[in-house]
Amino acid sequence: MTEPDVTSQHNEPMQRAARDHLWMHFARHSASQEGAEIPMIVRGEGPYVYDAAGRRYLDGLSGLFTVQAGHGREELAQAAAKQAAELAYFPIWSYAHPKAVELAERLAGLAPEGLDRVFFTAGGGDAVESAWKLAKQYFKLTGKPAKHKVISRAVAYHGTPHGALSLTGLPGLKAPFEPLVPSAFRVPNTNIYRASEHADDPEAFGRWAADRIEEAIEFEGPETVAAVFLEPVQNAGGCFPPPPGYFQRVREICDRHDVLLVSDEVICAFGRLGTMFGAQRFGYTPDIITFAKGVTSGYSPLGGMLVTDRLFEPFKHGETMFAHGYTFGGHPVSAAVALANLDLFEREDLLGHVMRNRDAFRATLERLRDLPIVGDVRGDGYFYGIEMVKDRDTRETFTEEESERLLRGFLDKALYEAGLYCRADDRGDPVVQLAPPLTCDQSHFDEIEQILRSVLSEAWARL
Ligand code: PMP
Repeated sequence: MTEPDVTSQHNEPMQRAARDHLWMHFARHSASQEGAEIPMIVRGEGPYVYDAAGRRYLDGLSGLFTVQAGHGREELAQAAAKQAAELAYFPIWSYAHPKAVELAERLAGLAPEGLDRVFFTAGGGDAVESAWKLAKQYFKLTGKPAKHKVISRAVAYHGTPHGALSLTGLPGLKAPFEPLVPSAFRVPNTNIYRASEHADDPEAFGRWAADRIEEAIEFEGPETVAAVFLEPVQNAGGCFPPPPGYFQRVREICDRHDVLLVSDEVICAFGRLGTMFGAQRFGYTPDIITFAKGVTSGYSPLGGMLVTDRLFEPFKHGETMFAHGYTFGGHPVSAAVALANLDLFEREDLLGHVMRNRDAFRATLERLRDLPIVGDVRGDGYFYGIEMVKDRDTRETFTEEESERLLRGFLDKALYEAGLYCRADDRGDPVVQLAPPLTCDQSHFDEIEQILRSVLSEAWARL
């Protein structure tokens, strides 16, 4: 690979062009318009990325929960190049190409029992959108046409298309686009740290939280509810693993009311929790799994949903089609990269690596609990949130103004400048989100801990 010309990328014309032409996502552009430098990442290698000036950052978020295998993997680049030369593009609209077929078969073999059919998209939000639409059409075809509503959890993020955004439980992201799709309803999430009921009894809390789903189904009318969308570990709001027994109870509730259980695994699949799919980590079988991100380790965009044979059945025979599709769904280059990525998972036993190292990751982050600003450390596998509080004993959180000052005024930038790329998020209570590449080991955990220790201590001193 030729070395990028970092000097030209670092120079002022590049910054100016970014300021003048690039619309960054979910970004406030005011700082850069006022002259602040836009962080410009030019290269990646293993768990590290490098900016235009050659500074190194530990990628504590795998890009965006995506680069499972780490950066700079020549074999994934080669797989993309080879496929682009052979067949760069062909749609899977009534046609097929070998890489989509091979990948579908491979994913079906890795997924929980019964999820044998794969519908490809180009990303996660599209996968969520597809799942809701499939649920609606499936029930229309099977004699329950009133089933169209969906349930999701408070503060959850499920994507930006209108349907996926309606499922999202983050008022700040939705407000500019209201009115959204009206048939989406929210239930409490599994934030036991801030539970008002059963805070010291995880099993009882899990039963309580699952029962809120049944309550919502009954309130809306089971004959109108199509699906419940849940992440195995909820990311937005601050990384909430499920209490013991939660998913088993939710499965029973869904079965009782003929409501589909959609496991949104855009983050939690492909080893993030040490298993290929998040549902396998917690021992439940959903009707639909949505996936994206880690399926290609981010080397090419791809998403999709795995669905049970039961959901495909009405489309299998007869003249009805699922009236839905994407130009880039199952793109040959992305499918080839995904296959190479799954080969790499096997060859390097990435799942085994996460399983062997997850306790050490947890133990290393737990050490941060001696800092007065650290209220909670929670997560699973290689996926954690560190919640920051004003008072550890009372769990008092920050005011909006303090949170703004802490996160955007200081933490985001300070962590990055100290060499750790991750995210300080205050869409719920303020947390630092961590999801390093699955190849990381103790030396990287220590590096994360050291940087967090010094930056969080400084944040506390400033407050
Ligand atoms: N669902 C979940 C759980 C996600 O975390 C995300 C993205 N972070 C999405 C859906 C949307 O995925 P995309 O950004 O690829 O559309």
